[in-house]
Amino acid sequence: MPSECLFCRLYREGDHVRSAGGFVAVKDINPRAETHLLVIPERHIETFRDIREFPAEEAQQMLEFIADTAREVGLEDYRVVVNVGPGGGQTIFHLHWHVLGGKVQGLPE
Ligand code: AMP
Ligand code: ZN
Repeated sequence: MPSECLFCRLYREGDHVRSAGGFVAVKDINPRAETHLLVIPERHIETFRDIREFPAEEAQQMLEFIADTAREVGLEDYRVVVNVGPGGGQTIFHLHWHVLGGKVQGLPE
């Protein structure tokens, strides 16, 4: 685990909206929707491109954690976004999932 990684540190020490079984949800520091959470796995992989590095069961648990988090914060309709690589808008190279509820800035209506 790269100790200099911001999201490894957020996973360990952040202010978590929710945490369970190797995953946390935090509020995005620069929200681009009425509700903007990030789901961060403890396992450090740089991008979604490397998703094969996740054991299948852990990948399933990650998807369930995303859905459970959205439900628990009261979202029924929302977007789940993963930015992949700099050209895809990724700025932090530890896999994370944006959970966006309500009107989103910078995405199609
Ligand atoms: P991405 O551009 O997909 O890599 O997303 C990185 C996200 O992390 C951006 O939406 C940032 O606003 C957010 N972010 C950066 N630093 C923090 C932090 N310390 N706590 C919460 N969110 C952060
Ligand atoms: Zn990391």
